[in-house]
Amino acid sequence: MPELPEVESVRRQLQPELSGRRIVKVWTDAQRRFHHPELLEGHTVVAVGRRGKFLVCPLDGDLELVLHLGMTGVLHFGPADAYTRARLHLDDGRELVFRDVRRFGCLAAVTAGVYDALPTLARLGPEPLSDAFDPERFARDLAATRSPVKPYLLSQRAVAGVGNIYADEALWLARIHPASRRVGRRRAFALHDAIRQVLEQALSREGTTFRDFRMLNGESGRNATFLIAYGQAGRPCPRCGASLRKMALGGRGTTFCPSCQRR
Ligand SMILES: [Zn+2]
Repeated sequence: MPELPEVESVRRQLQPELSGRRIVKVWTDAQRRFHHPELLEGHTVVAVGRRGKFLVCPLDGDLELVLHLGMTGVLHFGPADAYTRARLHLDDGRELVFRDVRRFGCLAAVTAGVYDALPTLARLGPEPLSDAFDPERFARDLAATRSPVKPYLLSQRAVAGVGNIYADEALWLARIHPASRRVGRRRAFALHDAIRQVLEQALSREGTTFRDFRMLNGESGRNATFLIAYGQAGRPCPRCGASLRKMALGGRGTTFCPSCQRR
């Protein structure tokens, strides 16, 4: 599933293409219940923004277009095919296509800032690469939750945009066991730094290549060969040499070092 670096890479390509364009007509797959896509018609895209893994595009008329790529969502400028779930016809004659094989993606037109229809977005934690992601507050949140640390990160409440890949990477870097329920202040600060580090590095490589993920230009990121923990079970830990292990945690595959990541 695309996480912050992948969605931000899409945003950076989409911004110059979509900003200032008026959405003339919207078509959506009849089987797919998006949230009021028809409201987009006749409105102009002011900018292409992002919150966590959501693309949030302000439009004129106090509206926002919200897109979530889900697991397999891809945006491109045509042609459409059997997996096309939505098409936005623009005033320059082009058509922005939302293709989504597994249909976990989402498209919504909402009043700006009103996210009742999008509960994850409504309760989203701070952006990890902004000043709003405060280490003291992060430490307090981690101390207060009863959830193991990795599922808590995936909940998006303490910090936005971190999914399975970058949670495994950041927890390895901070030497914290993904099932730990005791992340004290010192380790919370280390995790805060690690989250920023893995996201910034992935962003500099336009995200991680994985099945189905493509940016607007059809390319995928270059971060996959730099992953240390995610998907590397059985390989030696580059820090201590122990064999990296895979476990299921909160229903998600999780790779960690059983020797140097501590509970
Ligand atoms: Zn290790």
